[in-house]
Amino acid sequence: MSTINIAIDGPAGAGKSTIAKMVSAKLGYIYVDTGALYRTIALYITENSIADDDIEASLKNADVSLKFIDGAQRVYLGDRDVSDLIRTPEISMAASRTSAIPAVRAYLYETQQKIARENNIIMDGRDIGTVILPNADVKIFLTASAEERANRRYKELAEKPDCPPYEDILKDIIQRDYQDTHRETAPLKQAEDAVLVDTTKLDLEQSAEEITRIIKEKLS
Ligand code: C5P
Repeated sequence: MSTINIAIDGPAGAGKSTIAKMVSAKLGYIYVDTGALYRTIALYITENSIADDDIEASLKNADVSLKFIDGAQRVYLGDRDVSDLIRTPEISMAASRTSAIPAVRAYLYETQQKIARENNIIMDGRDIGTVILPNADVKIFLTASAEERANRRYKELAEKPDCPPYEDILKDIIQRDYQDTHRETAPLKQAEDAVLVDTTKLDLEQSAEEITRIIKEKLS
């Protein structure tokens, strides 16, 4: 039996994960956050102070895996649940850097394909529609202006004591966009057959509604 695969790609902070979670709950699909896999590799490399030249050889010991607990994705390094540890600005930046390494992408390729073969999924990332699931049933490219994405991140962090200034958040977003779109292997780009959704002027509900509408239309 073939499964239904929906790919959502786009830059950091476009709302992919929040929106994909809302839509997958509505449709009863599993939501797969592939950024968490790259972040976990970045954590592994950082914690073990692995030099760039040794990354490829060290990956066989990394043991990164996903589990779905009550429908929610958790990511493991060995038997340690690192789902929360990987959400720091340092790991965001490290993941953006290490995800450009072809051996890292190759290491995570089969993990992503296997989940998609076995489940109805909404998978978000940067190269899902172009590289991981080129035959996805529906492809969406979700974006918003860099300023609006920085604004949203700032609002999310505003309550925390160590909230960085807006300018730093914007700078990080612009730098990650540059790294993600300019790398040689699997750069962030819209697949030819992806539907573009710009959420700059949409709130989460409106974005989720629009994406649900597109998915239903494409699957019917
Ligand atoms: O989506 P998230 O911000 O958690 O991803 C962290 C980093 O992992 C991104 O900046 C990107 O460099 C990388 N990534 C990737 N391909 C994916 C998902 C994430 O290169 N499919």
